[in-house]
Amino acid sequence: MSDQAPVIEIRGLHKAYGSLEVIKGVDIVAHKGDVVSLIGSSGSGKSTILRCANLLEDSQQGDILFKGEPVKWKGAGLARQPADPKQVLRIRTNLSMVFQQFNLWAHMTILQNVMEAPITVLGRDRAEVEQAARRYLDKVGIGDKCDAYPAQLSGGQQQRAAIARALCMEPEALLFDEPTSALDPELEQEVIKVIKDLAAEGRTMLIVTHDMKMASDISSHVVFLHQGLIEEQGPPARLFGAPESERLKQFLSATV
Ligand code: ADP
Ligand code: MG
Repeated sequence: MSDQAPVIEIRGLHKAYGSLEVIKGVDIVAHKGDVVSLIGSSGSGKSTILRCANLLEDSQQGDILFKGEPVKWKGAGLARQPADPKQVLRIRTNLSMVFQQFNLWAHMTILQNVMEAPITVLGRDRAEVEQAARRYLDKVGIGDKCDAYPAQLSGGQQQRAAIARALCMEPEALLFDEPTSALDPELEQEVIKVIKDLAAEGRTMLIVTHDMKMASDISSHVVFLHQGLIEEQGPPARLFGAPESERLKQFLSATV
């Protein structure tokens, strides 16, 4: 539909931890507005792919492009590293990550948590950031918790604060790593609702999830990983409705 470069493009990604090869040649593309879900068993490489995409982890082979701009590397193989720290910062701040364990700063209020990175990392104006932070906290339904500390919030509220914090970076895309896994089922729903709203807004997202219902509801594309390779992928209706590979069939029957 569009000839714009994808927001995220990963081509032929290989990643090893020492001698253990965990990503063995993976391609993932997310255009603007795409919601790409990564599913698969524990240890299949989902988190590693997210962390390689925003350069929290080095990778040994393959290309990573952000809006058509290829990551510049120096060195090769296990010594390969991003060559340009400014590029790393630009990409990492534009692919904002939400973690399973929220990772809020315990000694800061919720408002301070959301305001911190836009001010210290991006150098934005404090008053403007505060306005935006309050707006995003309202958006995720916890505008009344600005002055609370993380420990005073439920898990679902903490995760919504973490989502507001990611949004306040004004990123091109959001990366979620099992955002609901640490939550009780009733709290899970309030976070899923926020993620659904973001999808409906046309946000570009890469989501690692064990929640097949959410993946089925909001994804434009679903990728099933098995031992560091894409075993099967497609639109959610096809992938969940008519899985082809035996491994995916097994995985789906074990997760519902
Ligand atoms: P998933 O998110 O799908 O559960 P991961 O990406 O976390 O999988 O892990 C993929 C593989 O890489 C697993 O075999 C895991 O044990 C291994 N792994 C992950 N992180 C590290 C690390 N820091 N050091 C060594 N091995 C790791
Ligand atoms: Mg993981």
